[in-house]
Amino acid sequence: MACVFCEIAAGSAPAYFIYRSQRVIAFLDIYPVEKGHTLVTPLTHYRDLLEVPDDLLAEIIRVVKAVAAAQLRSLGASGVRVVQNNGSAAGQVVFHVHFHVIPFYTHGVSGRRALKPDEGEAISRMLAEALRVDDTKGIS
Ligand code: 5GP
Ligand code: ZN
Repeated sequence: MACVFCEIAAGSAPAYFIYRSQRVIAFLDIYPVEKGHTLVTPLTHYRDLLEVPDDLLAEIIRVVKAVAAAQLRSLGASGVRVVQNNGSAAGQVVFHVHFHVIPFYTHGVSGRRALKPDEGEAISRMLAEALRVDDTKGIS
């Protein structure tokens, strides 16, 4: 399998999962911009946003919203940025469509760095737990 996100979806490559349904998964980015940086992607391989069927896109964006709420509630984030790159000119590196859900904190930007295993386990557990609580209230 050539696509790393297909491998993660199939369980043949590791990831810190925070959510899984029959069609959509969410897991921590291996090289987070900030603590809790999450990727939301469909299990099925689509190259980019334009290829994704609308009903699946609706499910993906609902997961994006729930992840954002979980980041605010359980990680103490103050804001959340949602990013979605299409095409190498726009910065897409993994050609399996995905949304970045990136929490931001009042202490300012800490800078991109590799995810440490203990951090990955702790953060993914907190986010997965927060996702089980149905609360998608917005940013006040
Ligand atoms: P893009 O630039 O394609 O929108 O973003 C790809 C993202 O995938 C990057 O933020 C990168 O850190 C992340 N990434 C690349 N390979 C892996 C991987 O094997 N595992 C995980 N969890 N994230 C990955
Ligand atoms: Zn794929």
